[in-house]
Amino acid sequence: MAGEPQADCVFCKIVSGDIPATVVRRTDRTLTFRDINPQAPTHLLVIPRVHHPDAAALAAAEPDIAAELLVEAGAAAGDDGLESYRLIFNTGADAGQTVFHAHVHVLGGKPLTEGLV
Ligand code: AMP
Ligand code: ZN
Repeated sequence: MAGEPQADCVFCKIVSGDIPATVVRRTDRTLTFRDINPQAPTHLLVIPRVHHPDAAALAAAEPDIAAELLVEAGAAAGDDGLESYRLIFNTGADAGQTVFHAHVHVLGGKPLTEGLV
């Protein structure tokens, strides 16, 4: 059920502490940690503690938490000293989503001016 922890979800396991992660920020409703396979000098993931399969599902069910992801993403970028950064919400397998627990990528620390894809 949406919102409930999913036994087979890697990000639910990070929330529960069953899988370690380099956590840089925590709120009551979100967690921010470093991506295990960074694509830029700063590559963070901001996730809701509750399970929803993607950002659109999260925004539909719990818009306040969806907004908090954006607040935390900006704060985490600032913590890493970034004024410029890119936020990415991959939604659906054909868009490259591989973990079906809502998350936003925070990328920066190098020029990201080559285009979106
Ligand atoms: P996406 O392709 O948008 O679903 O992004 C999933 C991201 O999660 C990828 O960039 C992975 O490198 C990252 N990832 C997967 N497992 C872990 C993990 N255990 N700790 C940190 N990041 C992870
Ligand atoms: Zn999950």
